[in-house]
Amino acid sequence: MPETRILQAIDDDMKDAVREATALLRAGEIVALPTETVYGLAADALNPSAVAKVFAAKERPSFDPLIVHIASRGDLKKVAIVPAEIAETVAKLTATFWPGPLTIILPKHPDIPDLVTSGLPTVAVRQSAHPVFRAINKELDRPIAAPSANRFGRISPTSASAVMKELGGRIPLIIDAGACAEGVESTIISIEPRDGKKPVFRLHRAGPITKEQLQEFGKVEKVKEKTGDLPHAPGQLPSHYAPLTPFILLENPEDFKPEPGKKYGLISYRGEDDSPYVNLHDWETVESLSPGSGKLAEAAIRLFFVMRLMDEAGLDAIIAEPVSETGLGVAIMDRLRRAAG
Ligand code: AMP
Ligand code: MG
Repeated sequence: MPETRILQAIDDDMKDAVREATALLRAGEIVALPTETVYGLAADALNPSAVAKVFAAKERPSFDPLIVHIASRGDLKKVAIVPAEIAETVAKLTATFWPGPLTIILPKHPDIPDLVTSGLPTVAVRQSAHPVFRAINKELDRPIAAPSANRFGRISPTSASAVMKELGGRIPLIIDAGACAEGVESTIISIEPRDGKKPVFRLHRAGPITKEQLQEFGKVEKVKEKTGDLPHAPGQLPSHYAPLTPFILLENPEDFKPEPGKKYGLISYRGEDDSPYVNLHDWETVESLSPGSGKLAEAAIRLFFVMRLMDEAGLDAIIAEPVSETGLGVAIMDRLRRAAG
């Protein structure tokens, strides 16, 4: 593989970037693209050999299915078969949350290669809201398979430079449109109809579309995780989004037992001087997810960036302060727990 190029897709450069990325995708190549959640590694979803390159570049096991992205809601019927009993619910959800960070698992259309869905009879579908991704998806006029643009099990990239660190030398092109607006991966649900009642949404992965937002349309239940099972969402494997540095989610400050001579860094929520976490130890470094104000949306955007920064700081361990588990806090805590393995 020749060196990886980075092309800016901002303002006047957007058209050229869209054209180049689309040409590569059409030729069966893989390209890292910005989405509103995290950067994705894109391939033509209908081209199995292109999809195989995604698995190879990521070192992703073949049992871990990819999300398929469509350019318009009308394209849903090209990638999935929506069962009549949930058609109304799917219409409401897509009208409300698409384009956006909600992925819906549906029975797959026969045109979708088995490699994309890891042999599952279902396909995970969403429509990205990112203007650059949308433009490429529309120009290509085919569904795009795109998991996060990181090596398997590692921290998801929220910037082009993070993609370069993960996949540089393995892919021909990264389209750079700056930092991602959401910062954590899409919410993933499947839908179970219930006679005469609102459907049940099985939450396969917590994300930017919160339980509170989904509850208007159905009853939200978490998917139970069983180790040893084929994962429904390997983003849901107990150890994922993992820094190379030991990572501890410190639910109680009293449980912190530092070893002499070791260097510890703190990921704090607000980073205020009066925080029990900030005052707990003479930290080598402190990074805040939402400095001062404590906003979950900002914390989500900064989460993977801060995890990466800490991972590169030469620490003996990274200590993370929990955030409140409401709204977006559910997705943030999910990622912190998985980083802690
Ligand atoms: P990534 O984009 O890397 O976060 O990965 C996409 C996530 O979607 C993975 O964790 C997949 O397991 C999950 N996913 C994709 N297709 C399906 C499916 N058919 N059923 C359940 N989960 C899926
Ligand atoms: Mg991923």
